[in-house]
Amino acid sequence: MNINTPDEQMGGCSFEHAMEYLQQIASSPQAEAYDGVSLNLTGMTIINNRFGMDNGSKVMHAYIAQLKSRIGDDGVIARIGGDRFFAVYRKEHREDVIACVKGVILKLPEVTDQGIFMSSNAGFIRISEEKDAPALMNAMNTARRIAKYRPNTTWLFYDEEIRRKLNYEKQVETMFRTAIAAEEFQVYYQPKVELHRYHLCGAEALCRWFHNGQMMMPGDFIPVLERNGAICDLDFYVLEHVCRDLRKWLDEGRKIVCVSVNLSRCNLGNPELLDRIVNTIRKYSLPEGTVEIEVTETASEVSFHELQKLIVGLREAGIPCSLDDFGAGYSSMSTLSEIPWSFIKIDRSLVPVGNGEPKDEKRKILIRSIVSMAEALGISCITEGVETLSQSVFLKSIDCYLAQGFFFDRPMPREQFESRL
Ligand code: C2E
Ligand code: MG
Ligand code: MG
Repeated sequence: MNINTPDEQMGGCSFEHAMEYLQQIASSPQAEAYDGVSLNLTGMTIINNRFGMDNGSKVMHAYIAQLKSRIGDDGVIARIGGDRFFAVYRKEHREDVIACVKGVILKLPEVTDQGIFMSSNAGFIRISEEKDAPALMNAMNTARRIAKYRPNTTWLFYDEEIRRKLNYEKQVETMFRTAIAAEEFQVYYQPKVELHRYHLCGAEALCRWFHNGQMMMPGDFIPVLERNGAICDLDFYVLEHVCRDLRKWLDEGRKIVCVSVNLSRCNLGNPELLDRIVNTIRKYSLPEGTVEIEVTETASEVSFHELQKLIVGLREAGIPCSLDDFGAGYSSMSTLSEIPWSFIKIDRSLVPVGNGEPKDEKRKILIRSIVSMAEALGISCITEGVETLSQSVFLKSIDCYLAQGFFFDRPMPREQFESRL
């Protein structure tokens, strides 16, 4: 399906046409009377896997037809790309559109006898809030992205809070290049511990941004940099600094430990990625196995294959690789069976807090099973986010001997970490 041509089957129009219409409404005195919405259909990957791509398209068409039937005669709907759409409609249809976003049951006997529940994540805007179509699109998309990660809702209206967030994102984007050049980013090191003897056995490199005397945490800037792709430059900046630190420590005669560097999935589309990582590490003539790469898992099939190729290549080059935040996302079993990980990093959301509640007992069961499954697969486990002695004792009792967390150490500046070596 070509996203840039009118899609009569879905009753939609081309993206360009819809943007022109959006601009026309925004510049007219009628702007007050209209809303815009950007939607991302929920669960299309699962639908495609379950029913096949052709049937997946039928489901998508049926959902968009539902939406189309709710936006009135002068409403328009167009595809942005993939499973993302946007629509412009008179605000008296708002409640109907919201109901469709919350979910409808589609009857498609040619796909399945059972009804299919489809919903979406959506960002709404009152058209009078912005002057031009690109700004409106940006605002709706931002509201949609925020809605996606906000608990208990799947949709949001663009408002003052989101406007502040957008301004902040713009500021981060503008400051980033100068900040990299001025080396405002610093690598902090968080020790990894071997639980038998509480012995330092490695570290994770975590970046901090120092700007105007203030320290910014990754959560304040990484999501922004992931959206505009600049995270790739930051990842290589961190890798370079870690290699440089390790080289310096070796030259000073210190006993170094393996340091892991986080690699954002945004890097996966880069065909030079493997060579670039390997060459950066080789440039510093570091002993094999002293730099490790941490990646989180991925849900899309394309990036799964890219991830698999990368990890195979890195392992062949003698670079250990860990699957970060395991248990927090999709945790697909094929990620474990088809990719040669050296380590699984069990996400802190699975670490029992020790309150004896049924949910906590389930965490214990899960973590124990992951550790024994990983061992059978020949992969070592490290648990993140260990904050108490009893958690550390529990981990030892289930044969998970590697841990990282505030109970042992918080991430610390380079100078403090090197005094431990
Ligand atoms: P991550 O890779 O899962 O790193 C572990 C995070 O958990 C770190 O947060 C660490 O400070 C925190 N943590 C460690 N122990 C504990 C604990 O006991 N309790 C709690 N509550 N938290 C603990 P931080 O430094 O804020 O980093 C957050 C995330 O930002 C990282 O999660 C990683 O995904 C990302 N990140 C950090 N530096 C980089 C980088 O250079 N490149 C990329 N791509 N991502 C990075
Ligand atoms: Mg990590
Ligand atoms: Mg992690």
